[in-house]
This record gives sequence, structure tokens and C-alpha cells, in this order.
Amino acid sequence: MERPNAWKTYNKIELKKLEAVAAEYKDFLDRGKTERECAQIAISALEKAGYVSLEKAIVAKKALKPGDKIYLNKMGKAVLTFMIGKNRLAEGMNIVGAHIDSPRLDLKQNPLYEDGDFALADTHYYGGIKKYQWVARELALHGVVVKKDGTTVQICIGEKDTDPVVGVSDLLIHLSQEQLGKKMSEAITGENLDIILGGKPLNGEEKEPVKAKLIRILKEEYGIEEEDLISAEIEAVPAGKARDFGLDRSMIMGYGHDDRVCAFAELKAVLDLKGIPAYTCCGMLVDKEEIGSVGATSMQSNYLENAVAEILDLQGAYSELNVRRALRNSRMLSCDVSAGFDPLYAGAYEKKNAAWLGRGVCFNKFTGSRGKSGSNDANAEYMAKLRRIMDENKVCWQTAELGKVDQGGGGTIAYICALYGMEVIDSGVAVLNMHAPMEIISKADLYEAVKAYKAFMMKA
Ligand code: MN
Ligand code: MN
Repeated sequence: MERPNAWKTYNKIELKKLEAVAAEYKDFLDRGKTERECAQIAISALEKAGYVSLEKAIVAKKALKPGDKIYLNKMGKAVLTFMIGKNRLAEGMNIVGAHIDSPRLDLKQNPLYEDGDFALADTHYYGGIKKYQWVARELALHGVVVKKDGTTVQICIGEKDTDPVVGVSDLLIHLSQEQLGKKMSEAITGENLDIILGGKPLNGEEKEPVKAKLIRILKEEYGIEEEDLISAEIEAVPAGKARDFGLDRSMIMGYGHDDRVCAFAELKAVLDLKGIPAYTCCGMLVDKEEIGSVGATSMQSNYLENAVAEILDLQGAYSELNVRRALRNSRMLSCDVSAGFDPLYAGAYEKKNAAWLGRGVCFNKFTGSRGKSGSNDANAEYMAKLRRIMDENKVCWQTAELGKVDQGGGGTIAYICALYGMEVIDSGVAVLNMHAPMEIISKADLYEAVKAYKAFMMKA
């Protein structure tokens, strides 16, 4: 039952292809450090590939036919794609969905203050983080500031070699006796994850001169007032580029593999589709998975359903029944990362049901925690079908479960799509130190995920 290591199956030509995919992915990670940036990259690539926005198609009353390509931009934070297939939409779609939000520190709406001759910004962390991993390291600021007149200022500070970086301080070891005696979960508090932004006073300013200097810089360099931060979304993320990891360069270390590795594989598979598929292929890049898939840009919002209704309408086939049929008859891969087996923490895993780095794309029949709670548990019949598709298309794959039974767990967007009654299974890439500022994946698993998602969209 042991699954083979994917690296053993490659010839020279395939290794070359694998490295090309890895290079493209590292560039995607470097340019897409927020959900907005990832959505923008996706939309640019999709438009170049001939995808038309659903809104434009609706205005033009475009009669959709097989081979037509449509995308939906949901508030700049989520993107759906549809490549219209030969079969009627009511017969279902082949859906591949991943999320493009990642854990980070969000600036609060009233963030700035001065203390100890520093100007600092208060944050509220987003998603599940081990807080001690986010101190004493270089952070970059990414996001948008929307001014009252509706204009948007794009922020990206800390990525160019000449840019300054920012960060959260940690107490020096010499004075840490009390801190080091605390539980890891309590040693660093959420309120203490404040970011140092400056340390130079504004000459002639009496009250909070360092903060005044910072506000002056914001005004001069970005044209924003302190009050504009109320309508801003600024995310502090690890600064720097994704790098090859390991002396054999077999892995990639970078920020946001969860879940941009699946998002990238999904997007690449969508862009590489050749010919007209039998079933309509739907790709989904969604937001807010890390905080429970809540809000208008999350999977729990109804944009998939609405988009399906609009597409049926453009095909002259709209009815509520056809919308329901299209969703119910669909097959989906809920693409999210798996916990890669870590030999240093072997005790947290059950080895023969763990995801191994380098053994290919993972299928998690179920997720959830302690008794499969909160899980989508895929059907055996569906799992069997996927085994056949993967084997016929020479995809290296493995099955996985998130750690030992009583150890913990997690969820994905799978159960939300399963509400429509479609076939859904979790499928993704194994990640080492998931949710840490720098996560690790194997290039082989990325490569196999791209192959798997392509095969799924054409063959399921
Ligand atoms: Mn995830
Ligand atoms: Mn996650």
C-alpha cells in the first residue's frame, strides 16, 4: 500500500518540465502575497488567454457556446473561471477550487500610536498562527488604502532590495526568564504583535513627534492621511522571495503555500486546457478560507450559484431547476494543502495515512477533527473513479489524513460545496510547517498537482 516517491518516476525531459513549473510558481508566490494580488495575477493571465468577464458577457448578451471562456471577479478577492463544455451545463461541471488567502497580520483600522520613541501599528492576526513565529523577522506591508473620494492607493513596501522592511520586536533572551516560563501559546499575545514602523521624530513637533514623522511620510510618499487607514486593508506578510530549499533543490520554501500552491496548480491547469472539454470546467480561487469561509468573497457566499445561473441564462437555458441540476451533478476537487509528514514530530502523525513530501498529489477522503467532526467525507464510488483517472493519466498520488486521530484537525471549503449535493473530495499538496511564515513543499508534488487537476478537468 506504500505509495511510490514521484522523483523516482521522472526522466530528464520531465525533470526539465518540473523545474519550469517550479520557477513559474515561485514567481507567482513572489507577486501574489495577498488574496487581492493573487486575484489580479489570475485575471491578467485569464484575459490574455481569451477569458471574458461575466459582467461584460451579460451586457453584450453573449450567446455562450462550447469552448467559450468566462471569468467572474468577486470584489477583487475571488475569481471563478468557466470553460464551456460540449455537454449541457445541467449535466454538471468539473470543478477545481482552491483558496488564495493566507495567515498574516492585518493592520487594525485605527493602528498608529507612539511609544518608546517608536511609531507602531496595532494588528489583528488573520487565520491560525503560532504567534511566536511572527516576531523578530522581516515583514512587508501589502494592501490597499481607499480614500473617501473612491481612489485606491496600492501599498507594497518591503519586497524590493532597496525597500525598508518592518517587523515585530521580541524580548531579548537576557530578560526573558518570565516569558520563557510561559506556555508557548501564551508567551506572545495577539495584542503584542504590533509592528514597528519608525523611530525618527519630526523636528519642531512636541506631541508624538515620531508618529507625526510617519504620518508626514505617508502623506508625502503615498498621498494618504491617517484617517484614510480606516478604509484600508493592509496586510503584514513575510518579506522576501520564495527560494529553492535543500541542497538538492527538491523543495521550495516560501510564504503562503497554503493554499497558493493549489491555487497556482489550478490556474495553470485551467490556462493549459487544450481543446473543448466534455463537461464545463470551473476553476475557483476563493477568499476567507483561513477564517472559516465567511463573508461575501468566501465559499459560503453564493457567487458560484449566481454565476451558474447567469451562464445558463446566456445559454438560453436558465431555470431554477437547471441551476440546481448543474450544481448537484458536478464533481469537485477541493484543493487545499495537507500536513506533510515531519520526522522531527513523527508522534503527531500516523505514518501510513500521512502525506509525504515527494509522493505526489494528496487525496484526503475526509478532513475534520476528533471523530471526523466538521468533515466532508467523500464517497468511495467517487474515490474509485479518481483512482482510475489518476492512474490512467500517470499522475503520482497518495492518500492522506491530517495527523493522528485525537491530535487535532482542520477543515476546507469541501463541505460547503457538498451542500449542493455534488461529489467533492479534498486534494492538494503536502506542506511542511504549514501556517508558519515560511512553509515548505516538494516541487514534485506541485508538478503532480498540475497534472492531476488537468486530468480531472478533462476526464472526470
Ligand atoms: Mn488551506
Ligand atoms: Mn490553512
